[in-house]
Amino acid sequence: MTLHEMREILKSRDLQLTKSLGQNFLHDGNQLRRIIAAAELAPGDLVLEIGPGLGPLTELLLAEGARVLAIERDARLIAVLRERFANQPNLTLLHDDALTYLKRISATASTGGHTILDYENPVHGAGALGCAAWKLVANLPYSVASPILVELAMHPRGPEQMTVTLQLEVARRIAASPDTDDYGVLTLLLGLNYEPSGLFRIPAACFFPAPEVESGCLTLRRRAQPLLDERAAKIFVRVVKCAFSQRRKMMFKLLKSEWPEEHLRGAFTQLSISDQERAEKVSLELFVKFSKLLARE
Ligand code: SAM
Repeated sequence: MTLHEMREILKSRDLQLTKSLGQNFLHDGNQLRRIIAAAELAPGDLVLEIGPGLGPLTELLLAEGARVLAIERDARLIAVLRERFANQPNLTLLHDDALTYLKRISATASTGGHTILDYENPVHGAGALGCAAWKLVANLPYSVASPILVELAMHPRGPEQMTVTLQLEVARRIAASPDTDDYGVLTLLLGLNYEPSGLFRIPAACFFPAPEVESGCLTLRRRAQPLLDERAAKIFVRVVKCAFSQRRKMMFKLLKSEWPEEHLRGAFTQLSISDQERAEKVSLELFVKFSKLLARE
């Protein structure tokens, strides 16, 4: 889809873009193809796309033979997409807020045993029941990118791979190493179940209109084996959020507000973590071991 085609669609429908919905559309063919290559699709793959916009990525996903569920919050864009992809049996369009949708599905999935893509989705339907192998490929709305990724990453049957375009600063936080300014809650919550790789920058001029922030694309692959069971993972989330609640404070002091001092003392000693340490110096591996010890108490 070219920039000219985008402008024509918007003009013919007198569509004014909504800044608060992050409506910056990717028109650069090279960057779109790079995203598709990073997604490593095979024909028949199940793909969730969040925020299809005018459909430049959707079009390429379908050309790869993927079966796509696309969730778009703007009803005006849903109307455009219905027209553009009218005879496309491999595409299901949902008019919804993706974050609300995912939270609703998570609640249903924990009781009803659905995967995220089974729910309300005729394309994937019963054939996909029990199938956890699906991917997220999306140029995400930047304002809700982090909560969407955390929601998916924490889901017990989350995607096997997520290839996402988002604000470069957020992508850097996800891929950060300990003891850097970018390292924090987002790094760890996503790193628990996923390994980030392949970050590349996408220049602002590749979007229409050009966003004010820089963008990047990143791939997250789900770990073959979870590092923690469900109970310890819940403790991990609590520990990480509490340990980073005041970045410059010592982790031990912060955690004391939620766990008995003697349990903490035992775990710090066993893992040779100083009680003067700040959370930003503690690696994912150590947070994992630490959560396992607390889960045993
Ligand atoms: N995928 C398109 C592209 O690459 O050109 C559009 C990407 S644009 C950055 C983000 C899209 O997400 C917009 O179409 C916007 O309307 C939509 N959007 C914003 N908030 C959303 C939400 N909460 N749920 C679903 N879609 C949303």
